[in-house]
Amino acid sequence: MSSNNWNLDPAPESTAQIQLKPKYELFIDGSWQKPHSKKYFDSLNPANESILAQIAHANQKDVDMAVSSARRAYRDVWSKMSGAQRGKYLFRIARLMQEKSRELAVLETLDGGKPIRESRDVDIPLACNHFFYYAGWADKLNEAFAGQKPSSIGVAAQITPWNFPLLMLAWKIAPALACGNTVVLKPAETTSLTALKFAEICQEAGLPNGVVNIVTGFGDTGALLVAHPDVDKIAFTGSTAVGKYIQKACIGTAKKLTLELGGKSANIILEDAQIDQAVEGIINAIFFNQGHVCCAGSRLFVQESIAQQVVEKLKFRLQSIYIGDPLDKNTDIGAINSKKQLETIEKYIALGISEGASIFQPECRMPTKGYYCKPTLFTDVAQSARIAQEEIFGPVLTIQTFRTMEEVVQKANNSPYGLAAGIWTAKGARIFGMGKQLHAGVVWANTYNKFDPSSPFGGYKESGYGREGGRHGLSAYLQFNT
Ligand code: NAP
Ligand code: MG
Repeated sequence: MSSNNWNLDPAPESTAQIQLKPKYELFIDGSWQKPHSKKYFDSLNPANESILAQIAHANQKDVDMAVSSARRAYRDVWSKMSGAQRGKYLFRIARLMQEKSRELAVLETLDGGKPIRESRDVDIPLACNHFFYYAGWADKLNEAFAGQKPSSIGVAAQITPWNFPLLMLAWKIAPALACGNTVVLKPAETTSLTALKFAEICQEAGLPNGVVNIVTGFGDTGALLVAHPDVDKIAFTGSTAVGKYIQKACIGTAKKLTLELGGKSANIILEDAQIDQAVEGIINAIFFNQGHVCCAGSRLFVQESIAQQVVEKLKFRLQSIYIGDPLDKNTDIGAINSKKQLETIEKYIALGISEGASIFQPECRMPTKGYYCKPTLFTDVAQSARIAQEEIFGPVLTIQTFRTMEEVVQKANNSPYGLAAGIWTAKGARIFGMGKQLHAGVVWANTYNKFDPSSPFGGYKESGYGREGGRHGLSAYLQFNT
């Protein structure tokens, strides 16, 4: 079966109730403020290259105002409020997000290109759950860290990437507020819209002015925020290159820093695994969200005895993948987030061919407008190949084989990254044995890309440090006074 043979009627999610302003200002001190730069940039829909809205580009003066507003709100209101009261605001925000979940999901898909099935079933419910989860901790910090006298840190600068815009915002803002900090958040330039909708939700929830400030812009706005002397804590999710830059910018300051960076995660299939289940798991691990997932299982290791069978099944399965309009409920693979990212992925695909690997892409209909990339498999990949070592951040899977457990653990750990790993086997002892040896912040067994607000998430090595999620995620926003 080929996706050329799919003759599904279109099933698009309606955009009728989406209310977008033509122009978005900066959200500072509880209200919308025009940027001092007087500059705006376009936010595009990557599925068809249409302009969705204009977004303000914050400069030094705007960042100064946002940080001052967060400082005032911290000093005068938020740090004095009881945990139970802070929790009530967080619950209110969570409920409002839930009420508006359809609108948020459509907006996330329009702005970022991810399939509506994912934004509707994964991104938005998880973002709401993070607020519900951390709302519950707000009045229990002393119990969570008994004897350690936890207290808030102050003003948190938070910088998020474009792959899970609202979810990454929730990972950052929910624990920060629960712990009594105020925030200035800089979303990614291609996907600011759900953060700006979130600002409207803060207003509707009656959150005191200045507790949450949203400054939009490019990397330069993020750099100004990082450099601001009145910021006490920086939480960054994004590329390892920018993470290293931020780390250097913090040297010699008292700023606390957590970094969630890139990955090149290993997905390991042992010969005793349930093959069909594993094949679906591999597809989910790398093609979910077009491979725009920091922990994507982008390096597949298959035990030699079953390698041919797994590769054949993967190729067959890829023929039935549906690529197209992200708003269509049938779509499995949506649009690549930006032209720039599509060009990066295409460069890596060309590199893989020139490095001597064998390429497979299914024959399928591709949209004529917008940024799309076929799901791509590479076999005959050398361990030293750049496509097996460097993060591609797209729907590209490298496949290597192995004979023994020792060999695959060594190959999997031979990476500058260490964000996640997957193990597929019928034997629990192998899961625990190998799981302990893999240098990865998360190890999934017989599943992949499963997230929960109560589970900590974070990396080893160049994938960053600090944990987000769970009780661990609280400590990134607290200082201890023992
Ligand atoms: P990125 O280029 O590093 O950008 C991340 C954010 O930092 C964006 O808001 C960006 O603004 C901003 N930024 C850029 N330069 C900056 C600077 N010099 N100072 C301060 N901020 C700056 O990463 P991305 O391309 O958006 O996201 C993809 C990367 O994120 C991948 O490497 C992926 O693995 C990683 N990621 C990691 C996790 C995790 O939890 N470990 C989760 C998601 C994504 P602009 O958008 O305007 O450039
Ligand atoms: Mg966009």
